Amino acid sequence: MECFDHAGQSAVGLCKVCARGVCRACAVTVTNGLSCSEEHRELAEQLARTQIVAARNAGFYRMQRWIQPICGIAMAAMGGIVLVMDESDILGLVLFTSGIAIVGLALVGVLRKR
Ligand SMILES: [Zn+2]
Ligand SMILES: [Zn+2]
Repeated sequence: MECFDHAGQSAVGLCKVCARGVCRACAVTVTNGLSCSEEHRELAEQLARTQIVAARNAGFYRMQRWIQPICGIAMAAMGGIVLVMDESDILGLVLFTSGIAIVGLALVGVLRKR
């Protein structure tokens, strides 16, 4: 690929904003990439920032996958304790069965995503 501005110069990369090829002389270094000009540098930095935020959110969602089963286990354990003390306690039964159901559903979700 050639530089968009200098015919015959081979491009060292693509502008993050307009995806045109840029040579070593044109390239403006930005976070995680290049831009073709000073005008696109600011936009490219904004793009890089949103990409970094998106990557962080992806990590958060991966972690969130495990929060649901942990909550389910905690609920089932609490219900279990209540049932041990009074096996006719309806609240204990509800906590225990919904805890088990949450763990089950969460595990199905985790296994399906793999
Ligand atoms: Zn550009
Ligand atoms: Zn150039």
